[in-house]
Amino acid sequence: MLYIVLVLVLAALGLLVTALITASSLWAWVSIGLSVLAGLILVADWLRRRRRASAPSDVAEPDPAAPAAPAASVAEPTPEEVPAEAEQTVLIPAAGDLGDPADTPDPEPAAEEPAAEVEAEAEPGEEKTPADDIAVLADLEDEVVVVDEHPRYHLRACPWLGTRELIPIGIGEARQLGFTPCARCTPDATLVAAHS
Ligand SMILES: [Zn+2]
Repeated sequence: MLYIVLVLVLAALGLLVTALITASSLWAWVSIGLSVLAGLILVADWLRRRRRASAPSDVAEPDPAAPAAPAASVAEPTPEEVPAEAEQTVLIPAAGDLGDPADTPDPEPAAEEPAAEVEAEAEPGEEKTPADDIAVLADLEDEVVVVDEHPRYHLRACPWLGTRELIPIGIGEARQLGFTPCARCTPDATLVAAHS
């Protein structure tokens, strides 16, 4: 009986090594299964010996009690078996790692929601400025504002700006740098109208 347990434990260790080498969780679970099976066999063996030893003293009672006893003690050996092998404790974090990928999708959707809110306030469209106005704008030194890493320039009153950090800049310089007018606050039309 103990030989079977020995073989099972050795097989479990072998599978554990295989699992570590191949990084496959399947072998780790099979290894755990074999370890648990070995533990169950040990318990069954131990119960049989104890029953045999205690048989002369109480013969009548143990028989009905015996079926209940194994069921109760089946739960015990599994935890006992696991810490017994130091390498089994390696498996438990490994199995915990398996659970993590399942958990990670939860934070991801949560991260997507703020991203969606930001997209709701996505970049405003580009104001379509007539060529005549562009010629007028080239001579203007009025100040507009830009936001770092955003392509539009705006009037200070633009609702899109909100609490963003504003960088004041001359409209001519903004255009030279490649900034384009915001379609919501239409700085080009507003400034051209102010100067005409
Ligand atoms: Zn704007």
